[in-house]
Amino acid sequence: MINKFNLDEILSINCDECFGLCCVALYFSKSEGFPTDKEADKPCVHLNDDFRCKVHEDLKSKGLKGCIAYDCFGAGQKVAESTYKRESWRDNPNKRKEIFDVFVVMRQLYEMLWYLKEAYRINKDEAMRNNIETEILEIIALTDMDGKSLLDIDIKEYRKKVNPLLLTTSESLRKRNYKSSNSKVKRSRMIAGRLDLMGANLRNRNLVGEDFSGALLIEADLRKSDLSYVDVLGADFRDADLSGANLEKAIYLTQGQVNSAKGDSNTKLPKSLKRPRHW
Ligand code: SF4
Repeated sequence: MINKFNLDEILSINCDECFGLCCVALYFSKSEGFPTDKEADKPCVHLNDDFRCKVHEDLKSKGLKGCIAYDCFGAGQKVAESTYKRESWRDNPNKRKEIFDVFVVMRQLYEMLWYLKEAYRINKDEAMRNNIETEILEIIALTDMDGKSLLDIDIKEYRKKVNPLLLTTSESLRKRNYKSSNSKVKRSRMIAGRLDLMGANLRNRNLVGEDFSGALLIEADLRKSDLSYVDVLGADFRDADLSGANLEKAIYLTQGQVNSAKGDSNTKLPKSLKRPRHW
């Protein structure tokens, strides 16, 4: 049933079809790699009248890591093209707040869809795949609702259904592959419930089957390491060095995570992700 949707395409950013929603609707701060401290509902100083970013080609040289890492999973073009039929927040100031609020909801729905799409792709259990497919179809139906109805969605209720599907998929894959690992990663340091591997030397290691979900891997050295079947859902890869690392079968690796890390032409990525231009 879900084969009729080209989910890889639907769930990829296409800024040309959006009206700069992430660059206006969201709060962001300079310390997180954005141009300035900005309140939600204010256009970024670099946003052009045609909704293009004036410094798009220079994000890396300007150190705008927050912009490079941000991924709306395609929610921006969905809101612009489908929900509001290309009527932008500039065309209709009365709907401005609604459009921005809808974008925040849509982004969460698209994020769930992206992870479910990955879980469906890597899970070989037929019953589980059916459950995942049912959830994907349910969320796709939500994304087609009008703006006001989207704002009434209880996102938490959907997360309660989605998260166990993601977790079960990850656990079964990792369990099947963990025995080949010799990583022995120390898991003693935690920050706010997240595994702290900031700056860790994990170079040239067999990390197969590890659970790095939510881990802080900022500036970690992962050069030439094997991250096959490693769950990296929500892990923070900012400035982690992935040069020569194998992430082809990493579980739940997103484009945003890849964009925020360092890498090179020898880094192996899943087919659905693009090699960042700055690598
Ligand atoms: S610098 Fe460009 S990509 Fe970043 S928020 Fe501003 S307009 Fe958007």
